[in-house]
Formats: sequence, C-alpha cells, structure tokens
Amino acid sequence: MSRTIIVSNRLPTKVLRSEDGLTFQPSEGGLATGLGSIYRADGNVWVGWPGLFVDDPTEQAHVTQQLQADSMAPVFLTENEIQDYYEGFSNGTLWPTFHYFSQFALHNEKHWQAYVAVNEKFCQAVLELAGPDDTIWVHDYQLLLLPAMLRRERPEATIGFFLHIPFPSYELIRVLPWGPQLLEGLLGADLVGFHTFGYMRHFLSAVAHLLGLPNQNGLVETADRTVLVDAFPMGIDYQRYAETAASEAVIKHERTYREALPGMRVILSIDRLDYTKGIAERLLAFEQLLKRHPEWRGQASLLMVVVPSRDQVAQYQGLKVEIDELVGRINAKYSTIAWTPIQYFYRSFPFGELVALYRLADVALVTPVRDGMNLVAKEFIACKTDQRGVLILSERAGAARELSDALLINPTDTNQMVAALHEALLMPKEEQTARMTHLQDLVRQYDVFAWTKLFMDRLAYSKIKQHLLD
Ligand code: UDP
Repeated sequence: MSRTIIVSNRLPTKVLRSEDGLTFQPSEGGLATGLGSIYRADGNVWVGWPGLFVDDPTEQAHVTQQLQADSMAPVFLTENEIQDYYEGFSNGTLWPTFHYFSQFALHNEKHWQAYVAVNEKFCQAVLELAGPDDTIWVHDYQLLLLPAMLRRERPEATIGFFLHIPFPSYELIRVLPWGPQLLEGLLGADLVGFHTFGYMRHFLSAVAHLLGLPNQNGLVETADRTVLVDAFPMGIDYQRYAETAASEAVIKHERTYREALPGMRVILSIDRLDYTKGIAERLLAFEQLLKRHPEWRGQASLLMVVVPSRDQVAQYQGLKVEIDELVGRINAKYSTIAWTPIQYFYRSFPFGELVALYRLADVALVTPVRDGMNLVAKEFIACKTDQRGVLILSERAGAARELSDALLINPTDTNQMVAALHEALLMPKEEQTARMTHLQDLVRQYDVFAWTKLFMDRLAYSKIKQHLLD
C-alpha cells in the first residue's frame, strides 16, 4: 500500500521536560489541523523535530514510541545542530533573505554545512519509513535541500514541496552563495507550491537565470524530469474560528473586555515579534492618526499583542527595545487619566481570548512589510460573526492577493496608513457588512482542508502528467 509521509522541521506535537518527566502537548497550529486527516490515516506518518533535546538513548526510545502511537516519527537534533542549522542558516540567512532583509542575512559556511547535514539527517529518517513509491510532502524553508536528497534514493517516489514564506526576486537568491544548490534541492520535487503566483514567478525566474532551465506553463524541464510549479494560498480552519467566536465562553470574554473599555473603538494588532511585521511603522502611523485627527483621542485605542519570538537573535532584541520605546513615548504623550492610547501585551494569548479579541476589534491593522501569507488577517475575518469590522491589510502580505475587499495599503507609507485608519473608523456599517461578507465567503471556501486537498490532487496530477510526457 502506498503511504503519505509529511515532513517539516517541527512535529505537530511539542515534547516538554518537566519535573514529572516528559509531557506531550499537541499543537493547534493551522498546518497540524489541515494535515491531521492525512498523517493520522492508516500507515501515514509525520516526520520532524519534537522540539527538545533528547540525548539519552532510552529516553529517545520512549519519545519515539509515544509519538509513534500518534502517527509521528521524531528526528532528534543536537543543540549545535539547532544553533547552526535552525537559528543560523534557516532563521539567520534564509528568513531575512526571503523577506527582502538581505542586510540582516549571515553568510556563514559553518551554518551552511550544518544545514546540509541536518537535511541529510531528515532524509535518512524519511528513507527508513518510505517505500519506493510512497508520497512525501516536505514543508518549508528549513528543508529546501530535502526533495533532491530524497529523489536520489527514491527515484520513483511522489515528492511535493510547499514553501510557507515568500519566494523573493531572483536578485536576492543571486546574492546567496548557495542559491543554485537551494534551487536544485527544490527541483527534486514533482510539485513545488507557493502561496501566490508572484512567489511562483520569482522561483521560475531564479531557476531560469541561475540554473539555465526554461519553463512553460509552470513546468520546468530538468535533465531527467518535469517539475510542476503552482500557487496554493493557504487557508485556516474557518469553522473552528467561527464556532469558537459564537461560543458562550468567548462572548463572555468579549463582554469583560468591553466593560473595561466603555465606548472605545478598538484597533487590533497581533503579530509575532519580527522585523518583517512592520510593527514600528504601524505605531508611527497610529501616532500620526492621533496628531492629525485629534477627534480620535480618547475615542480609539490600539490594542497591540506582540508574541515573543526568536529572542536569542540580536535583531529581535533590538526590535523589542525599539517597540517598547515607541509605545512608551506615544502613551506618555497622549495618555489621559481615563484613556491609554496603546494597550500593549508582550505575550501570547490562549485561543479563546485571542478569538475574543478578534470579536472585540472594530479594525484589524495587519501591516507586515513582508509576509508569506498572514493568517491573522484570515482569522479576524472568520471571527466576525456579525459581519462588522474592517480589515486594513498590507499589499505585501500574501493574503492581499485574495482579500481584495480589505483596505489595502503600502505598509511603509504612513500617510496612506493614517488615511486608511481614519476611513476604517468612519466606515458606514452597510459598507463594513458588504466587504466582510465577501471576505468571509472567500476565507470559508478556501479553508485549510481545501488547501490540503488541492495540493495533494495537484501532486497526483503532476505524476500522471510526467508519465504522459515520458
Ligand atoms: N497566535 C497565537 N497566539 C497569540 C497570537 C497569535 O497562537 O497570542 C497565532 C495566530 O492565531 C496565527 C499565528 O499565531 O495563527 C501567526 O500566523 P501568521 O501567519 O499571521 O504569522 P507568522 O507568525 O506565521 O509569521
């Protein structure tokens, strides 16, 4: 029987070490939900790092056994590997380069060597499980070399790859000393998927310029195979958000928030702390709103959630200081006894409270300077059970390609952001409903389950097409 093997850097379960031993905590992330029906099906498996260091062989055996019961197989990584492959090459080189922050990108040979070695380690882990013609779906920028490594050992396998971050212009790939190897790594797949057509075109152009391989209708001819390249905008588990938003518990949370902010218009901002998210630019725009439109003082608050992330990396620490200072300065300038302009939370929220915040917000201000997709924008839409609320969305988020009924803005254009905020706060209810209804139809239809199915169907098709072309 042919099986499907999902591979990603992290497993959809977090293994934690506590005084009572190891505990296993399932992740509720969108990807885990979307792929749940696949990897839990008969004989299928998800391969990835369990999220903690396990050196002791007896403990490794215990973790392997526990995860196996839930269709997972761990790849154990050492602290050095995580430092050089994950924090070094993945987050220190690929992340900034692919988000157009080349000036932050490290070019470190040791990190590259670790990246190759860990991709090899993943390859071995998959080979132990995969038969000659199984289907293997590899995810994201930590594993760009894996498709070609697998192809060498399993020439007949069906291999798909999906990139969850942007794919930049070939000019940025050209700057990377390892650009050609990364592209060759991806071309080991039968299907390479991106969130948008823009990313897909960038990839095809990089392949043409750096490897000299032409393409037609999204098909790349390599020496021995045809590789299909396509766009699959990822969705969310719409039903889960909509149902939670309509639940008693969440409505109660929302009521508590409203009582604390009587009559206040709420502008919501939610991100992981990251330089790609445009958080400082957003704060400056809110400050300008208060300066140019004093009528909103005391009437509107920015509720800003920043989720701690990658705090071992210098750039992220610097950004935290910058945001703290901006919030402090703006609040010090405009606060009154009765009103705080920015309600700032540097922590993550439990799911139910997050959904209550989405319900509460009059405006969601989602303004990344670069973002592969941005799920926060889609989650906000799914939670607006009364079809009210306005989404202001950066045109540089992948989600902007689909969500054209949002107010689309350039995230570095302060004037445009101020105008959009003012417009959103004044938008008539009928217009809010008309826009939100369209947005909901779209996000409901292209949910994470539709995304998974579309990718898997296309992967099967890519294989049929290859046989026809042979
Ligand atoms: N999120 C969360 N806890 C929080 C705030 C946000 O789990 O306190 C989630 C949010 O629901 C969303 C994800 O973090 O699913 C962020 O995804 P997005 O695509 O917007 O950005 P990324 O962090 O992947 O760059």
